[in-house]
Amino acid sequence: MPERPVAIITGGSRGIGAAIALELAKLGYDLVIAHFDFNDQGQPDESRAQETQKQAQALRATCEVLRTDVSKAEDRKKLVELARRKFGRCHMLVNNAGVAPSKRLDLLEATEESFDRVMNINLKGPYFLTQMVANWMIEQKKTDPRGGYRIVNTGSMSAYTSSPSRGEYCVSKAGVGMMTMLYADRLAEFGIGVFEIRPGIIKTDMTKVVTAKYDKLIAEGLTPIKRWGMPEDIALAVGAIAEGRLDFSTGQVINVDGGYHFHRL
Ligand code: NAP
Repeated sequence: MPERPVAIITGGSRGIGAAIALELAKLGYDLVIAHFDFNDQGQPDESRAQETQKQAQALRATCEVLRTDVSKAEDRKKLVELARRKFGRCHMLVNNAGVAPSKRLDLLEATEESFDRVMNINLKGPYFLTQMVANWMIEQKKTDPRGGYRIVNTGSMSAYTSSPSRGEYCVSKAGVGMMTMLYADRLAEFGIGVFEIRPGIIKTDMTKVVTAKYDKLIAEGLTPIKRWGMPEDIALAVGAIAEGRLDFSTGQVINVDGGYHFHRL
């Protein structure tokens, strides 16, 4: 029997990342989920990651979970070491973990501290995790030239939409766009595809604080498809990449946003 493919998913404990993990489990992937759970009191809390793990196992996936701060080099190293130790292979990396600023502050008042936090988690972490995993994928390709190896980055409509009350988030996601292009370019010769999924307004914990605002905007027609996006909408797009249906489209940005991205008259 052929070996099952393996995916590393950051921020896989909840929201978009959890939906991606379960979609990949359905497609026959085994999983390494990186999570960073803290409860509302700021205490470590593994329960969400364990719940996702249980659901993945019910889909017959082998699923490892590891508390990982993607902004920390030593944590990224431990994550990749776990995947090497447990599975000895990795076919897919999903850079999904991401944060909004802890506090929305106007561009003219926002702090360097928040800028560093958001950039380190949303951009520097995935940039260097990709470097590490890409080198491993290149190694694997040598012994498994026909294997499918792919990297997916979760960007955002904020890459091209100005929100002056969370500038650092917008800048980090614009960076993810360039990062996708750079790695797609560099890894094409090895047959490793790199893609960006660009979500619109998706119902998760991240958008809970702005539910009323987006309910109103969506009802008023902000998006041609008048509904919230769901984590599963993103997961289906990642699933298409995982199945190799988009391999010749490396570097592509896939908007999953109910049509938000196009101009309308
Ligand atoms: P979410 O529900 O807040 O989940 C964020 C995930 O990232 C959680 O699993 C979280 O772990 C993890 N995470 C946070 N900081 C981390 C760190 N330092 N190291 C490792 N993992 C960390 O958000 P979401 O809406 O699913 O967002 C997922 C991705 O989609 C993010 O990159 C986000 O920017 C992007 N996105 C979301 C939307 C939207 O409308 N929701 C739109 C565009 C783009 P914990 O559970 O431990 O906190």
